Amino acid sequence: MSRKQAVAKEEPKPEPAAEEQSPDVVPEEGGRERGRLARLRFKKKDMPGGLWLKCESCGQTIFRKDLEEKGFVCPSCDFHFTLPGRDRIEMVLDEGTWTELYADLTSLDRLDFRDKEPYSEKVKRSIEKSGMNDALHCGTGQIMGRPVVLAVLDFKFMGGSMGEVVGEKISLAADLARKSGDPLIIFTSSGGARMHEGMLSLMQMAKTSAALATFNEAGGFSICIMTNPTTGGVTASFASICDLTLAEPGALIGFAGPRVIASTIRQELPPGFQRAEFLMSRGQIDMIVSRKDMRRTLVKLIDYGKGNPVP
Ligand SMILES: [Zn+2]
Repeated sequence: MSRKQAVAKEEPKPEPAAEEQSPDVVPEEGGRERGRLARLRFKKKDMPGGLWLKCESCGQTIFRKDLEEKGFVCPSCDFHFTLPGRDRIEMVLDEGTWTELYADLTSLDRLDFRDKEPYSEKVKRSIEKSGMNDALHCGTGQIMGRPVVLAVLDFKFMGGSMGEVVGEKISLAADLARKSGDPLIIFTSSGGARMHEGMLSLMQMAKTSAALATFNEAGGFSICIMTNPTTGGVTASFASICDLTLAEPGALIGFAGPRVIASTIRQELPPGFQRAEFLMSRGQIDMIVSRKDMRRTLVKLIDYGKGNPVP
């Protein structure tokens, strides 16, 4: 599907988070967790510019500094803005523990594809603009001292779309986690399969699913956190088949976009359709986790996954 469909503007407004996760699931590290979001320095060039920003969910005008202090969460409606991958890594991992892997992999233009411009040119421009070689950050790090393999899709590189490189890196991450025995944590934000790579991008759905199945059979533990927006071939493959599926409040999660569905079935869609809270109420996802509770919740789940419940 096209990115335009995936992030259609006319979709219903998200409701505020139905329930906040308990902040006391894991003891704080001497209070150091408190204010962690406020201390992170967001890379300004990666986020919408200006002193004032408009929330895409409630329309409220927000002072940029207030938004930054809350980890890019709307203070009035709790909508979680899409985060650049590097900010996400910084937010989730312990400081100084990130080691990026497979960062050299770049897309090939096997089909010699061209729409408004050749695909190879588009990739080149995206690399220059984003400072990364494709849409997925992959590596190792620690969350409150627990080693993890982490994969983070970055929406700013061609809408976080999955082509051969994303498929390969997810598979490599699953293999690495299988060999090291560490949990695999994946954050998604994606418009879906990268149509410029045609069938080769759709093949990544099977490839990533097979890699996760092998990881699962070997006793591996995986968590996927779907963030706004997670759509198309990413939702329909590796994002939905981890041991646990989490989502951020208000995240748009679906396969086809709401406008496409409404026009196909010729019915009005219910309020909150394809938002995290709607999917949670229907059993599609396991838990909605606010950004401020993400690290503590992940640590609790990792400890459970390893058979070492927190007392
Ligand atoms: Zn808002």
